[in-house]
Amino acid sequence: MSRLFYVQMLVYFFNLNIFTVMKKLISVCFILLALSACSTSSTGRNQISLYSDTELNQMGITSFEQMKKEIPISKDKATNDFVFCVADAITANVSQSAHQGEWEVVVFDSEQVNAFALPGGKIGVYTGILNVTENQDQLAAIIGHEVGHVLEHHSNERLSANKVSNVGLAVAAIALGASDIDNKGLWVAGLGIGVQYGVIMPYSRSHESEADIVGQDLMARSGFAPKASVQLWKNMSKLSKDAPPEFMSTHPSNETRIKQLTAHLTVSQPYYLAEKNLGFTPKCVKPKVIPKSPMVKSNK
Ligand SMILES: [Zn+2]
Repeated sequence: MSRLFYVQMLVYFFNLNIFTVMKKLISVCFILLALSACSTSSTGRNQISLYSDTELNQMGITSFEQMKKEIPISKDKATNDFVFCVADAITANVSQSAHQGEWEVVVFDSEQVNAFALPGGKIGVYTGILNVTENQDQLAAIIGHEVGHVLEHHSNERLSANKVSNVGLAVAAIALGASDIDNKGLWVAGLGIGVQYGVIMPYSRSHESEADIVGQDLMARSGFAPKASVQLWKNMSKLSKDAPPEFMSTHPSNETRIKQLTAHLTVSQPYYLAEKNLGFTPKCVKPKVIPKSPMVKSNK
């Protein structure tokens, strides 16, 4: 019996509408706990996860395959070497329990200022974001943050919230005599991978905050200077004043997160220094020139 079935039963049994379902998510958590749909994130937040890891991984893999077919992939060796060097150093420090086997890293040839990580061990970096990241440490901050979303199962939470609200909608629709709720593409949006692969769904503030902390620890434990995460978001903030990059539509930048990242340095800096003392600092060289996407060139 699927977890969704139990949620549906809850909705029917308690005759809840969409709003009360959302409000009661936490209170029904104890029931879901028995169904192992409740968990706690590494920073201690209660989470609802209606999907299994296998389902989430499959969604991540399917989306990634689709993107690889539709978006040009960079063939520039220096650019690829730089991104792989940073990503490999980060993923080497991700527990096997989070993802078994190799992570697949793809550099998409696009001027979009964007990057993402998906369940199933997938990382996508757009060449456009490499013009914002000044060095290996800032790119590590981006990748660490994105992998942080995966490690903390944020897609599962968002999809579960969608699902529950959709169940609420379905109940409302039945009550109103309507039928067929179209939820096509919902899980694509839940993975948060951008406008052309679903509706943009910004991460919540608590997800951002958690990915910042987890990501900063991860980059530091991988030998990258965690201070770079503060500079990165300052750069992003500056950039978003003129023309907000795609990345900022799903990743709101604000003073609070810069303050939090600065405060967390007291925790992450020692991880970094420990790696540095052992001589484990990656030496990934950012190419002087990141070649522009040929598709963009031909359009101009
Ligand atoms: Zn984020």
